[in-house]
Amino acid sequence: MYTDASSDNNTDRQKKTCSKLKPAARKAGAEVITNVLGYPGIGDKRELKWAVESFWRGQSTKEELLNVAGEIKRKNWRMLKNTGIDLIPSNDFTLYDHMLDMSCMLGVIPDRFDWKGSIDLDLYFRIARGRSVAGKSDTKPCEMTKWFNTNYHYIVPEVDKNTDFRLSSTKIFDEFAEAKKIGILTKPVLVGPVTYLMLSKSYSAESFNTLQLLDKIVPVYATIIKRLNKLGAQWIQLDEPIFSLDLSDDIVGKLEYTYNILAKSSKSKLMVANYFGGLGSNLTTFVNLPVDAIHVDAVVAPNEVLKAVNVAAENGKMLSVGIVDGQNIWANDLAASKKLLSDIAAIIGKNNIIIGTSSSLEYVPISVEYEDGMDDKIKSWLSFAAEKVNELSILSKIMNDDIAYTDILARNRKIVKSRKDHFSVNNQAVRNRCSNITANDLRRNSPYIIREVKQHKIFKLPMLPTTTIGSFPQTKRIRKARSDFKKGGIDKEVYENFIKREIRKVVSIQEKIGLDVLVHGEAERSDMVEYFAGKLNGFLITRNGWVRSYGTRCVKPPIIYGDVSRICPMTVKWAKYVQSLTTKPAKGMLTGPNTMLQWSFVRNDQPLSQTATQIALAIRDEVLDLEEAGVKIIQIDEPALREGLPLRKSQWNRYFKWAINSFKLAANGVTDGTQIHTHICYSEFNDIIKFIADMDADVISIEASRSKMKLLNAFSDFEYPNEVGPGIYDVHSPRVPSADEMAILIKRALKVIPAKRLWINPDCGLKTRQWSDIIPSLKNMVTAAELCRDTLK
Ligand code: GLN
Ligand code: ZN
Repeated sequence: MYTDASSDNNTDRQKKTCSKLKPAARKAGAEVITNVLGYPGIGDKRELKWAVESFWRGQSTKEELLNVAGEIKRKNWRMLKNTGIDLIPSNDFTLYDHMLDMSCMLGVIPDRFDWKGSIDLDLYFRIARGRSVAGKSDTKPCEMTKWFNTNYHYIVPEVDKNTDFRLSSTKIFDEFAEAKKIGILTKPVLVGPVTYLMLSKSYSAESFNTLQLLDKIVPVYATIIKRLNKLGAQWIQLDEPIFSLDLSDDIVGKLEYTYNILAKSSKSKLMVANYFGGLGSNLTTFVNLPVDAIHVDAVVAPNEVLKAVNVAAENGKMLSVGIVDGQNIWANDLAASKKLLSDIAAIIGKNNIIIGTSSSLEYVPISVEYEDGMDDKIKSWLSFAAEKVNELSILSKIMNDDIAYTDILARNRKIVKSRKDHFSVNNQAVRNRCSNITANDLRRNSPYIIREVKQHKIFKLPMLPTTTIGSFPQTKRIRKARSDFKKGGIDKEVYENFIKREIRKVVSIQEKIGLDVLVHGEAERSDMVEYFAGKLNGFLITRNGWVRSYGTRCVKPPIIYGDVSRICPMTVKWAKYVQSLTTKPAKGMLTGPNTMLQWSFVRNDQPLSQTATQIALAIRDEVLDLEEAGVKIIQIDEPALREGLPLRKSQWNRYFKWAINSFKLAANGVTDGTQIHTHICYSEFNDIIKFIADMDADVISIEASRSKMKLLNAFSDFEYPNEVGPGIYDVHSPRVPSADEMAILIKRALKVIPAKRLWINPDCGLKTRQWSDIIPSLKNMVTAAELCRDTLK
């Protein structure tokens, strides 16, 4: 698949096949056409994941893997074609990540991979994950980071001042040809050059602006476009979602410069796509680009659409209106869409309208069809990727045909209305509670300095107390017990006894190691969000709602469909049990409202802040029940707090105001003597430290070992007032750190955090680690704390 660019021996045969094809794009007369920006490539039942992982384990061949990939692609293309989609994407499929595919296409391969000029699967997977198949040696993989405001993660391209680009993979051409072979003319999709460079990173000491490489990269894009044109591509889509961000005029100017060149080199029609956010001040430049069509996201920025239409109308450009939500799972309100599309048609004419998904559909699950067992009413409210494609097709029929489609519209209206009116969506008791929240509910009784004294007296912990973040290894046995219980293979009593045994085991291990504050290990939780979602009103867990998080890793976000409330205590039993086993304090463990929200599909019928408030109240109930049950330390994890940050910085303050308030609402109902911990697992705090301080958790544990405690500067510069546990054991690596090296990190931390406020803990939960490496690591961590305590005496 990733062959050398020079091998192009199938082109002639493909040309012949191509000549028989009807052009996909324009239909006869003044008609709208439909556009899918991208489709999930993981397979209906995550077939790609299983195939890739089997290849990694050395249990299947490259051919077997590529066969599975080919089947998924063909199935998707055929489905899109049969549903009547005009602009069907290709090159949206990826074995691991589409940014990595772009890097391979452009020849952006870091030196350490010893690249000889051709890119095979082995190299491809090594860049992504350090090793390709079992047994092969490790090379440090490229960094991975979050893709805009999605839960998808991409491999960051590594460039430096001297990076040269050259066409190095034929994937995009091969996939175009693959589809053509089965009679489908696709629209190849690429990440545009400005977005690609803006997301690239330079690791060299000397800092430089990656956009300086634009002059070198644009000719390669031009070559790709020309070659796609030769192969018969009528449309090419270039994704430039970076224009959802605040950008300097200089960068916006670069966009014009780039597309002036690319438009000149292209005989195919070019579409430049923005999505995930509004264009804001970038709108006029963006819509005026000298290309054939512009795609705008009408779901996240509906207010901008008419403005974009007017600009497009001035220069006779086609507008792809992203009206079917690519990031969320709700059925489209067809009547509202029809109204907007008709308004647009009145300005630019139907023949200039392309009806599109707002973004690629890869951020939503494949099909509602697999959700057997789901309540039929709720199911009718949902629309996953396959259903969304259908919505596009229906919308185009509504716009193009002379039929009123009253039946379809009436059915859809009923669905939309039933969701609005449903009792589980509108729980008056929850709404009343939300409107009665007062400033007092968000505040602790006393400021931290007073709480600190009381808590230190109650817990009598040593200086530099040691603890962990919550989870311990989720072994095969634990996963099996959970799944047996879920399927009814074992009864509740057997299952609960099993979990109790696990808790006894982790307590005894922690006591032997000598940790000061214990945890119960979270064996009953498959996932920190799903566990609570399964116990709250208003949340729904799907059977097959998988979306790719990165590479072969998929997640199954719960769906928040109604007003959220707690049915009954969710964790109290386990928290009480663990405390009954030890005289040391054991932490109660909860997932915070922001993380519940960020890792779920959310309601689109009320502001996020309102949903967050409802979740916060449910967690507050749990916090208070834990306190009542004698659990004196409660940890509320918020690893996804930062993930909710809006793309534009100007909106950060507003976000933090409600996000932090929802944490405070969940946490702050307790008395002074109850200690609230929170855990946040990333390492950028400089720009958000004041909001973190505002959470007013008594103790915050953070990831710090990989930055060698550098991130603590944010805490000292700000004079962070409460207690901090900067992770000193990097749990992302199987290495066992020595006591001495951890002691060095503690000493560094002591330079910036007063000893009485410093906690000693790992970076994150230990769920994915092996007991064999965490026992010695935690022992060393405790020894390191002891060594440092001695120096403080
Ligand atoms: N308590 C959770 C655990 O230990 C926290 C995980 C996280 O923040 N990502 O697994
Ligand atoms: Zn973490």
